Amino acid sequence: MLETAKVRKDAFIPKALALADIPVPFWITESSQLPKAMGSYVLVMQLAEDKTIAIGKLGVFNLRAGRYYYVGSAMGAGGLASRVGRHFRADPDKKLRWHVDYLRAEMTLVGCWVWQSATRLECAIAQQLTELANDNESLSCIAKVGSSDCRCSSHVFCSIDAI
Ligand SMILES: [Zn+2]
Repeated sequence: MLETAKVRKDAFIPKALALADIPVPFWITESSQLPKAMGSYVLVMQLAEDKTIAIGKLGVFNLRAGRYYYVGSAMGAGGLASRVGRHFRADPDKKLRWHVDYLRAEMTLVGCWVWQSATRLECAIAQQLTELANDNESLSCIAKVGSSDCRCSSHVFCSIDAI
């Protein structure tokens, strides 16, 4: 079920990205809604309380309670259904493979903005959110998290207060 209040709270994402000519995404709250096609996504998670979290080899981060946004893409076989479906499953025994897995293990999944596109949009999305974070005190970058394969300063963003 689509929860309007949650969509409204996180709607700054498509608004900010529209400024960079990034197409309008759709909002998904159930893994059954995920297309099998390739695409990019912003995973929206909630951390209920302040927490110290070790993220693989990156080290230990003191994270404040709030909304967390992870920017990724699904270009492999199985597309968005496979990659994002993995994030949707709250399995305590899931192997921690990517940076985002360490965050997901401690957070509640709120939903996911999804772009069904064979063009890899993830770095353009991350760069636009970095610019927004530079201009807006409510949004911050979690340095280096999720961006070990590219030149972006981060693919993870945090909002302590709703923007
Ligand atoms: Zn990037």
